[in-house]
Amino acid sequence: MKLAIDQQRLASEIESLAVFSETEAPAVTRVVLTPTERMARAWIKERCVEAGLILRDDAAGNTFARWVGSDPEAAAVGTGSHIDAIPNAGKYDGVVGVLGGLEAIRSLQRAGLRPKRSIELLIFTSEEPTRFGIGCLGSRLLSGTLMADVARNLADGDGTTLASVLRTAGLAGSLESAKLPAGFYKAFVELHIEQGPILEQERKPLGIVERIAAPASLRLTIEGSGGHAGGVLMPDRRDALCAAAELILALEHAARNSGAIDTVATVGMCDVFPGAVNSVPARVRLSVDIRDTDLQRRDGVMRSLKSACEGVAAKRQVTVESELLNADAPAECDPSVIGALREACEKHGFPFLPMTSRAYHDSLFMSRIAPTAMLFIPCRNGYSHRPDEYASPDDIARGTLVLAEALATLIAN
Ligand SMILES: [Zn+2]
Repeated sequence: MKLAIDQQRLASEIESLAVFSETEAPAVTRVVLTPTERMARAWIKERCVEAGLILRDDAAGNTFARWVGSDPEAAAVGTGSHIDAIPNAGKYDGVVGVLGGLEAIRSLQRAGLRPKRSIELLIFTSEEPTRFGIGCLGSRLLSGTLMADVARNLADGDGTTLASVLRTAGLAGSLESAKLPAGFYKAFVELHIEQGPILEQERKPLGIVERIAAPASLRLTIEGSGGHAGGVLMPDRRDALCAAAELILALEHAARNSGAIDTVATVGMCDVFPGAVNSVPARVRLSVDIRDTDLQRRDGVMRSLKSACEGVAAKRQVTVESELLNADAPAECDPSVIGALREACEKHGFPFLPMTSRAYHDSLFMSRIAPTAMLFIPCRNGYSHRPDEYASPDDIARGTLVLAEALATLIAN
């Protein structure tokens, strides 16, 4: 079977999708379940219908577009990604895996393949945590990683719950029904931009992901005592921001000393109350993100943070409240799916790099219910989640070709 990717059409579809945005080009802002995101999704659904795919939306808003095989009962092979984009993001994150997945299917159709197993393109709901504070909502729900009851009551910044947003979007079914039965997919493979600089540095056009690091997210609230910056003397202070500063450094220290380069920890948000130049900070909220490919190591950093919280609270006479938002386990990718990707690269003589995904993806949750792996393509300077995010049409087409070959292998087995 000789496969050909329509590189031009794929590139132009990526451009067309980028127009569905709440910010001016080249920036893309497409927050999940907003009118803009719904229109973008509808546009892709039309492309899927043109390709003869059968569409279904689940109660969580995940979209499934199926090329039905001659044995519709056989477990399908899945591919796909997300189309939601954080504020001021780029055109390629997620989108390459969705439109590339669609083009991979079309290339198999053009080559005259008559699959026995179905191939299914997935467009997940809310990979980005922008709106509901938790990433990969759709894949968490369909893999049973997140309980429907918890999901229903997640609220966005305006206090609107996920349940009500889904209802407004016309998705009425019970969230419980989104969970897929065991064995639903024979395999799942996601094409994605790397979102890091390694492929470019190593001059490799493709990366085959062998493991996916997983995050733990926490929210820390430090409560001290405020007052006038002139009036409250140093011995009497219970400055919440000074306590927060110690915790941030303790976290950095714990991650640096975990013994492995794969451990990373970040405080990306710091809200100071009341936030005035002449007022002692009374309350501080910190976001904490800890990631690793090894669960025990990551949990070790979490324990170090916990003991730092207790130490700082006692020393500075503040209270530190810690709320665990999520703590997912990392995933090992499946050898058979990795093998299919390797074989495809070798067939075409494409060099590739075995990799770790340090960002997490819907594949992390798909790996709980299906043999899963990911394929990375380079993105310029490793930039992602910014308007100048860029992947070249050549790299996108190469990744799509390898994806198509791997799908052909996976449905044949
Ligand atoms: Zn993504």
